[in-house]
Amino acid sequence: MVKAENITIIGSGPAGYTAAIYAARAGLSPLMISGLEQGGQLMITTDVENYPGFEKPVQGPWLMEQMKNQAKSFGTRILVDFVKDVDLNSLPFKIKTEKEVIKSNSIVIATGAKANWLNIKGEQEFMGFGVSACATCDGFFFKDKEVAVVGGGNSAVEEALYLTNFAAKVTLVHRRDKLRAEKILQDRLFRNNKVEIIWNSKAIEFKGNENPQSLKQVILENVNDGKKFIVDTNGAFIAIGHDPSTSLFKGKLNMDDENYIITKNDSTETSIEGIFAAGDVKDKIYRQAVTAAGMGCMAALEAEKYLSENY
Ligand code: NAP
Repeated sequence: MVKAENITIIGSGPAGYTAAIYAARAGLSPLMISGLEQGGQLMITTDVENYPGFEKPVQGPWLMEQMKNQAKSFGTRILVDFVKDVDLNSLPFKIKTEKEVIKSNSIVIATGAKANWLNIKGEQEFMGFGVSACATCDGFFFKDKEVAVVGGGNSAVEEALYLTNFAAKVTLVHRRDKLRAEKILQDRLFRNNKVEIIWNSKAIEFKGNENPQSLKQVILENVNDGKKFIVDTNGAFIAIGHDPSTSLFKGKLNMDDENYIITKNDSTETSIEGIFAAGDVKDKIYRQAVTAAGMGCMAALEAEKYLSENY
């Protein structure tokens, strides 16, 4: 028999580390290919208050370091490398990285997703200091403050509605004169008197204080007449879509029309037996560290069962 890894986990966010912790404790000696930037989306998050187990807020990068150390403490081997290609046609599966070809009897895909950003001036500078891509994560910090949401899809409208639970005022900024979101969400938005909608406008710059770093304004531009204007705001939530990191698996695993990996109901199993997907790479609804971690646990348990039945 060809010598191969039992289980290889691709990706090092909460889904990947949780899969690693479970697989390592099950004696599977997992290999994790972490990518070149380890830790996933929490590495660009400041205060985390909704990950269970911590009474006080913790910093995203610190939380990821804890997960990494926990995974390593049970024997997970972490390869800091980047996957270039995969061959899923025959067993063992083959994973080609920058440095080597790894053979593996099972794979957990936990490559996550990236929020789309506007790429405008000030956005990077105020990320985590007023600019966010997750209202569920950061909305609570804006109690009785004014916030803006950019976008016109389901996410933008849901985020705007969610933010009305905390904020004094929510301004939704959309580049067209029609929302893309479902009608039921639109109706809810239009009825909410905390919400103002600015149509036909795009955000062109974020401005704020340097010390302490905090967002104060977003500069908008009307797309029809080019006029620029300022909206005072303490927070800006960018909700212009996410991109799951799945280009490696295109044409190889079943995906939906937005390139999220499709898994079986109540399972992390993909269209190929022995390959599992966990976290934001297969989830466009919840996108939380704790839901990703839960799916990582499921993937490891399912992989363990698959390996015990097949090897
Ligand atoms: P989306 O549906 O792709 O909407 C993205 C929005 O951002 C669009 O309104 C788009 O404007 C706008 N946009 C894109 N690039 C922009 C830019 N550079 N500047 C300004 N605006 C920009 O993304 P989503 O809302 O994140 O939803 C993604 C998927 O998840 C969808 O299938 C959605 O239905 C689903 N989802 C479902 C639920 C639910 O079922 N409850 C909740 C959330 C998401 P245009 O309209 O002009 O293109």
